[in-house]
Amino acid sequence: MRKSLLILCVLFFIPFPSVGAQQPVKEAAFYDKLRNSIVRCFLCPRGCVIPEGKRGYCRVRENRKGVLSALSYGQPVAAHIDPIEKKPFFHFLPGSRAFSIATVGCNLKCMFCQNWEISQAKPEDVEARSMTADDIVAGAKRSGCRSIAFTYTEPTVFFEYMLEISQKARLAGMRNVMHSNGFINEEPLRRLCKYLDAANIDLKGFSEGYYARICDGALAPVLRSLQILEEEGVHVEITNLVLSGYNDEPEKIKKMCRWIRENLGPDTPVHFSRFYPMYKLLAAIPTPVETLERARTIALGEGLKYVYIGNIPGIEAENTYCPKCHSAVIKRVGYSVSEIGLAGGKCAYCGEEIRGVW
Ligand code: SF4
Repeated sequence: MRKSLLILCVLFFIPFPSVGAQQPVKEAAFYDKLRNSIVRCFLCPRGCVIPEGKRGYCRVRENRKGVLSALSYGQPVAAHIDPIEKKPFFHFLPGSRAFSIATVGCNLKCMFCQNWEISQAKPEDVEARSMTADDIVAGAKRSGCRSIAFTYTEPTVFFEYMLEISQKARLAGMRNVMHSNGFINEEPLRRLCKYLDAANIDLKGFSEGYYARICDGALAPVLRSLQILEEEGVHVEITNLVLSGYNDEPEKIKKMCRWIRENLGPDTPVHFSRFYPMYKLLAAIPTPVETLERARTIALGEGLKYVYIGNIPGIEAENTYCPKCHSAVIKRVGYSVSEIGLAGGKCAYCGEEIRGVW
């Protein structure tokens, strides 16, 4: 059965509502009070110890008189209606729209960051507007979105805002999705999972050296987060931004794909994404298409069933193919989607189950 889903190439910008009263600063979750008004944040593996008057590494959590405050709570700097494919999610409500929001801040410093102007900013650097969780949910409903997406920057650092929106969105019958670096501790992640329907996690490379050198982070906590998301029944997709000469060694890609198959299952969608020169890596070359195709071949060879190439609109590797009969079941060109061979979550040609939320 041929069913046209949605053709949506245009991004809609949501005008911020008129500025309301500034929201009171929110006390952060997940921190300990130490002596002399010093606090220790344990929201993410960085574990910042923050003296009075100072902020954590992410710049949005500040020690105010011994109380850790979430400075970006209720202060989005971006709110857009995006195709869900842009997150990217290819196996989650294809063709639907996601109300996408971000505040400033991040707990990593990736040298290739596409959104560094907001992810690496302080709250006072970027104009934000006050929007309550109710404002966000109402805006999402009004605009016909089926989900709310926490994206663009790192949602972990606006955890309290994300959690409150997610709770309210669930009550309103909406889904919650995030695109995250996965650099978050177990306790907050499990709490979030109660309301989270899908997560696309950046698995930036498959060595501690790469994470340390290029992202100022660590690989092991990200792998643990992926296992937790899988245990908690959250739909997981993975994005790997391939940088030629940095993280594209075939052996590393192979190891990564094997880990995904063994820990998350062979039907986990994986997106190899093309890098374009950005931020601190302006001198690096755009990823050659052959490098991405080689990564995809390795992943398929390791038994992964749904392997995509991203950031090259029109490439065949944007389509979803049935792993059994190899028919195209979803065709994509950029963010245009047509579901051509899916029936009740199964391949319409051979009946093979296709993992996803359809
Ligand atoms: S969330 Fe921010 S303040 Fe807390 S540990 Fe991570 S980087 Fe530090």
